[in-house]
Amino acid sequence: MVATMLTSCGISKTDAPQSDDFDYTVEQFADLQILRYKVKDFENLSLKQKELIYYLSQAALEGRDILFDQNGKYNLIIRKMLETVYTDYEGDRADTNFVNMETYLKRVWFSNGIHHHYASDKFVPGFSQEFFKKALQSVDSAKLPLMEGQTLDQLCDEIFPVIFDPKVMPKRVNQADGEDLVLTSASNYYEGVTQKEAEDFYNAMKNPNDTMPVMFGMNSRLVKENGKIFEKTWKIGGLYGPAIEKIVYWLRMASTVAETGEQTAAIEKLIQFYKDGDLKTFDEYAILWVKDLNSRIDFVNGFTESYGDPLGMKASWESIVNFKDLEATHRTETISKNAQWFEDHSPVDLRFKKEEVKGVSAKVITAAMLGGDLYPSTAIGINLPNSNWIRSVHGSKSVTIGNLTDAYNKAAHGNGFNEEFVYSQAERDLLDKYADLTGDLHTDLHECLGHGSGQLLPGVDQDALKAYGSTIEEARADLFGLYYLPDAKLVDLGLTPNKEAYKAEYYTYMMNGLMTQLVRIELGNDVEEAHMRNRQLIAKWAFEKGKPDNVVELVKKDGKTYVKINDYEKLRGLFGQLLAEIQRIKSEGDFAAARQLVEDYAVKVDPKLHEEVLARYEKLHLSPYKGFVNPVYEVVTNDSGEVTDVKISYTEGYAQQMLRYSREYANLPYRNE
Ligand code: ZN
Repeated sequence: MVATMLTSCGISKTDAPQSDDFDYTVEQFADLQILRYKVKDFENLSLKQKELIYYLSQAALEGRDILFDQNGKYNLIIRKMLETVYTDYEGDRADTNFVNMETYLKRVWFSNGIHHHYASDKFVPGFSQEFFKKALQSVDSAKLPLMEGQTLDQLCDEIFPVIFDPKVMPKRVNQADGEDLVLTSASNYYEGVTQKEAEDFYNAMKNPNDTMPVMFGMNSRLVKENGKIFEKTWKIGGLYGPAIEKIVYWLRMASTVAETGEQTAAIEKLIQFYKDGDLKTFDEYAILWVKDLNSRIDFVNGFTESYGDPLGMKASWESIVNFKDLEATHRTETISKNAQWFEDHSPVDLRFKKEEVKGVSAKVITAAMLGGDLYPSTAIGINLPNSNWIRSVHGSKSVTIGNLTDAYNKAAHGNGFNEEFVYSQAERDLLDKYADLTGDLHTDLHECLGHGSGQLLPGVDQDALKAYGSTIEEARADLFGLYYLPDAKLVDLGLTPNKEAYKAEYYTYMMNGLMTQLVRIELGNDVEEAHMRNRQLIAKWAFEKGKPDNVVELVKKDGKTYVKINDYEKLRGLFGQLLAEIQRIKSEGDFAAARQLVEDYAVKVDPKLHEEVLARYEKLHLSPYKGFVNPVYEVVTNDSGEVTDVKISYTEGYAQQMLRYSREYANLPYRNE
């Protein structure tokens, strides 16, 4: 609902590189890679804007402990035990037990708890209980999270099963049908209540006639104490109060340098919500936030994502601070402004064209700070608020986060992917030069023009293509972009640097669709996901139809298969032909033709090629999950204490940053009851 993850709509970015001298990679462990993102243009913001970002960034970091506690009631205790051993242990740090404990701690930091951030399974520690106990005994007990009167033995007896026993709290979020999802989930949103009790509690609150319902349960833990079920609300004076007070302190500072009246109003309302915990106040805030459109700087700070609650009500705390990327937004605006030209010149039948077409202008933002559930693992798009009635009455904000996508792309440079899969140095040079740019541009054309182009013939049912509808729709949007990428119009508009650049996206697209996207599919399976089907449909269709002219080939070198494009211009012609046909299918609601295209080209996989691709990919040892460290902001003041500048730096390492956050933003007690 909230976040566009990497795999959702949009064009697959393979690992197309482009280099600059910024170091995008930090480190790699377990199944994770830590990256760094660049806050492009921060230096060019005004002092007031920099100050605003600084205050909002502080507010983004102050809530870190909230998420740890939301993800599991022992997470803050376990983090402190691990960190103390990690920093103070004087035994052999090269010992396997210690090394594996370090990896475990790094995973706990990444997941904000002891369960995998994505799969939600509990981590299996690669170190022994004996080692950990001895290590804990060797450090200063004043630094350990002991309750008053508690001995270290008692602490270990309490906590070790949580870490070491696979049967204790095995899943953060259990979705297994038929089980009590509340009792069997380790996330800390309910205490002492069953799923039925929780559902009954909230069903009793709902009024089916309310057209403006608040999001019940969003900002509280539901508990049963002395036989009574009630909410412990997250607010100042309530649960998580100490962290929220700090957040509010920085929001107040932010309010003094806000860019517009709308922004001030939104910040003030958020402060009010953190104080009263009233969900009506939250809705008022969400409406003010949606209306704040003229500020360059924007932020999310609050209880937002509900994926961590098996019942989908309780929201995890997160924050992102960002500002509008003027250059990239200019690009999407340029495309939008020329939407009619593109519609008029597309190769589809006149009957299927819109007489009047409106482009969608997507805002591209630059992330300046990530916090809570957006850190270190993050989204590349944001679409908020979540409340359905607010979305339909007041609208929503939908943005893509350009500098994070960019960091993913750049970090892929030199990871060996292109060296392994791209046919020759000539293609690799082409991709180095243009692939990032043309990849982004293809996404923009897809989003701003592709989906909005064309029309259904009168009387044709929207859902006529049924299960094939989304694959056909994604193919239509992709083809619209592919067809126009080589067009001289794009050079005229300044969107591409020359008439050659598009070849980078053509090569990437064909390689991905014919071969490399198969790395995401298990051997023996078909292509299922709509975007992947669409890409294979387009690539395979063009490959097959181009055979008489040898437009695209699959060639073997040293026993390995490669994509080789022999005629880029003819390939464009094929994309145009397929666009015309796909638009016809859509406009006429031709179900039989949709089914045939999808089944013939998009679903089946050559098992031999699949096996080869998987084997080649595995040898590269690429991490399936990625996350980011944040930059560090530092305020510069003059003799009279006035802020004269805010400096940004990118040198902090992963463990260094995590330990600093645990020190500087340790806002909650180890136990929050
Ligand atoms: Zn799409």
